Amino acid sequence: MLLPRVDALRAFVGLVSFAGLATLAAAVSLGGGDALARLDAVSILFAVAVVIGECVPLRMVRHGTETEITTSSTFAFALLLSCPPAAAIAAMALGALVSDLARRKSPTKIAFNVGQYVLAMGAAAAVLAQLTSVPLPGRDVFAPVDLPAIALAGLVYFVANAMLVARVITLAEGSAFLAYLRRDFALQTSTVGLLLGLAPIVVIAADFSVVLLPLLGLPLLAVQRAGRSAVEKEQQALHDNLTGLPNRLLFADRVEQAIHLSSRESTQAAVMLIDLDHFKEINDTLGHHAGDVLLQTIAGRLEAAVRDADTVARLGGDEFAVALPCVRAPGAVERVAQTVLAAVAQPVLLDDMRLEVEASVGIAVFPHDGASTEELLRHADVAMYRAKAAGTGHEHYAAEIDERTPDRLKLTGELREALESGELQLAYQPKVSLADGTVSSVEALLRWRHPVRGEITPDRFIPIAEQSGLITALTTHTIRSGASQARAWLDAGLDLSVAVNLSARCLIDRGLVDDVADALGAASLPPDRLTLEITESMIMADPDRAREVLERLRAMGVGLSLDDFGTGYSSLAYLKRLPLDELKIDRSFVSGMDADPADAAIVGSTVGLAHSLGLRVVAEGVEGERVWDQLVALGCDAAQGFFLSRALPPAELARWLAERDELQTPRAGYGKPAGRGSAGTTQRRTAVSQIA
Ligand code: C2E
Ligand code: CA
Ligand code: CA
Repeated sequence: MLLPRVDALRAFVGLVSFAGLATLAAAVSLGGGDALARLDAVSILFAVAVVIGECVPLRMVRHGTETEITTSSTFAFALLLSCPPAAAIAAMALGALVSDLARRKSPTKIAFNVGQYVLAMGAAAAVLAQLTSVPLPGRDVFAPVDLPAIALAGLVYFVANAMLVARVITLAEGSAFLAYLRRDFALQTSTVGLLLGLAPIVVIAADFSVVLLPLLGLPLLAVQRAGRSAVEKEQQALHDNLTGLPNRLLFADRVEQAIHLSSRESTQAAVMLIDLDHFKEINDTLGHHAGDVLLQTIAGRLEAAVRDADTVARLGGDEFAVALPCVRAPGAVERVAQTVLAAVAQPVLLDDMRLEVEASVGIAVFPHDGASTEELLRHADVAMYRAKAAGTGHEHYAAEIDERTPDRLKLTGELREALESGELQLAYQPKVSLADGTVSSVEALLRWRHPVRGEITPDRFIPIAEQSGLITALTTHTIRSGASQARAWLDAGLDLSVAVNLSARCLIDRGLVDDVADALGAASLPPDRLTLEITESMIMADPDRAREVLERLRAMGVGLSLDDFGTGYSSLAYLKRLPLDELKIDRSFVSGMDADPADAAIVGSTVGLAHSLGLRVVAEGVEGERVWDQLVALGCDAAQGFFLSRALPPAELARWLAERDELQTPRAGYGKPAGRGSAGTTQRRTAVSQIA
């Protein structure tokens, strides 16, 4: 794999160098004398400007890397229009030689650069000679009729030069020729193209009076300033304002390059996501200025902690990332992670305060943990979340031995497809009021009907989604379809609020808030018709961050429900500070409470506790009538479970609701399920029969 390309590179460099030198020799021996005879003050000035232009290039940034452009082409082309071709070709060769020698480039590189310029200029000269008699004998300047041919010669120079450069770079990098050429052309046209266009003007001006030549500095200055402002614009688009570090866009590009390089050199590349812990506290208590200083300090330390070839980026908020190309030593990534953690952990002194933060680092390594930029970032994110949840500082993405079984891998791929093809559907399970049997909300539960494997339960595929990083897309999908279903029901006159389950990763994701807002907007759904169910363990993974996200959701008007209550370890004192509306008692306490007095006691005291905090209480896993009766007696607000209904597809749920309404008599009891002599509301009947 490796050798053929190295050979191709060598052959190409050799060919260009040889052909260039041969052309140079031919041009000088055939036309050198003629050119020398024609040399005057102006042409000498042009030649000097070529050499100076080569040696003092203009700096600019391209695709995030600084590059240089030279003004030599303006004067070399001017020379071509006013002297025999040997002069321009020789001046170009001399310029390349002098500037490359000054920069101590290797002989091969010098030979190639000289060859490349000579060939491009030679091609332009050939076009000019074919189509016109420019340069005219004596000191005559070209005529307007020659301009199209001159433009064509300029184009040939431009294209030949760009192609030779693109070929050698893509051969050396192992990247795609056409893609490079496309990216390069835009910049080249705006700089080299412009500089070439100046050449005829230079010739005319010089013919008019040599005194005018200094005035040409002005357009060159303009080109330089345009270049610099392009640099600045690129800088802004690809860098973070606060820290000056590359942003997400540029980072992705660097990871892409790192992958390229590593696959070429058969080494590894690593992506590291770094998320600060407790940053929000500092920002909140000490103000944004302190937060900014902290971020800047940490940015500087991270840069100092890695090699020059590595890229440190700020992805947003308090999230940083490092790309490590060409990792050779086995323990190298591990060491960098330790250094990064140590660099972050050092206290930052601000005014008289010592600010301390810690970080969680997630690592994914190419090619083992992912083959694409997107996959590596996703997996580093999974690892980062794990480090955060476990409080271990850093974690490698581990598609662990048992988790990486071929079957699981296959399922991961299928899950991704299922997500795209709509194989994943939501079913809705009603939450029934224990007071009057009404249903005002339903829980959306994912159902995956696999064409071959049959129904796959969420307990099986949600962990896979979390492990593979697909969970973010999955959650977005669920929130969107839940919201649009709620909208469809509303339109049909059925006022049901939909509860969507969130997965652990989502709650420390600031993007979640925007996703929810987008989903509500897209469905034009009033925010209170959407509830998000979260578990204690999700909150405890990063309580500060979780509270921030919850508060923003609350401010938006979305309902928040604490799921599986009783299975985690949340402190009551902590719960009190969270903006919650509802608490769901875990089904492990509920389903057997009629047989186990301890469970009944737990449920009873949880109801009391929740009410004292002003929360509505839902008991989940209600499987029988006796439990239902107990819950009524305990004053629980709502029940959910197989006794009432399983999760149903939307149409079936509507039918179920309609049937209940048919069976229920307005004044009976306290609202047990339909068919068991319970009561309910009649006011919904018309609405439901419309859609059932
Ligand atoms: P969960 O949020 O606690 O959801 C309730 C689960 O209990 C559902 O299982 C439901 O079918 C089941 N259930 C309902 N009534 C009864 C009952 O009377 N007895 C018993 N034994 N079980 C009952 P399901 O649908 O298999 O979902 C399992 C878990 O998967 C859910 O637990 C939830 O954590 C997760 N999940 C489901 N859908 C989603 C989703 O869209 N996103 C995320 N992140 N997680 C989901
Ligand atoms: Ca739930
Ligand atoms: Ca639950």
